[in-house]
Amino acid sequence: MISIKGLSKHFGDLQVLKDINLKVGKGKVIVVIGPSGSGKTTMLRCLNILEIPTNGHITIENKQLDFSKKVTKKVTKKAIIDFRKLTGMVFQNYNLFPHKTALENVMEGPITVKKQSKEKARNKAAELLNKVGLGDKIDYYPFQLSGGQQQRVGIARALAMEPEVMLFDEPTSALDPELVGEVLKVIKELANEGMTMIVVTHEMKFAREVADEVIFMDGGYIVEKGNPQDIFTVPKEARTKQFLQLIQ
Ligand code: ADP
Repeated sequence: MISIKGLSKHFGDLQVLKDINLKVGKGKVIVVIGPSGSGKTTMLRCLNILEIPTNGHITIENKQLDFSKKVTKKVTKKAIIDFRKLTGMVFQNYNLFPHKTALENVMEGPITVKKQSKEKARNKAAELLNKVGLGDKIDYYPFQLSGGQQQRVGIARALAMEPEVMLFDEPTSALDPELVGEVLKVIKELANEGMTMIVVTHEMKFAREVADEVIFMDGGYIVEKGNPQDIFTVPKEARTKQFLQLIQ
């Protein structure tokens, strides 16, 4: 479903991702953990082409973008826009349009990017907001919603584009602790429905419960990957052990 080969990313002289290789099967939930600055967010942003990789290939379903040096010129803007439609991104700070209601936020992408009719987009948006437990808040503006509610609008908005893969970038880290559960519950429901997803999070309990595979990143590398049971109880690498001791 997803295949990342030799992915690297530089910001000027700083190499933030170093030869990332990863395969994700359809319907699998991958949780990415690791210290701050290890490249987790940049990896997700490269998958959504919010950052242009310096090198490597990314394949999702049967679409491939090749950023290896010799062919970079061939990656057109149109190819990037098409590729981006395959993934739905949920951001740490929700990134909602402040002057649009919950319903309008969710309708926006399907209308502008997918050229859906307003009516179709509205019906789908209402259905998705209902699904994330906000059926009674569709006409509220972001400032009238709690952080947990705003993030659930963010999830509905990503789902409205009918992506193949959902990418979650620390979706609960900006939330007050009492609001974390309602967002994780929605993500868990999506996992149970078979959505393929990559979730960057510090919520280790969630990772244990939901992940098919946990990836530990440090210094721009995938240092270790495995099933949650192994990673959390018998990590192989010293750096993984050290990180887990610090946070648990
Ligand atoms: P994580 O998500 O694991 O905390 P990030 O992917 O956000 O890590 O960042 C990895 C490194 O890349 C950090 O050193 C960060 O400062 C740097 N970085 C991220 N985005 C940029 C950018 N746009 N320009 C320059 N450096 C960046």
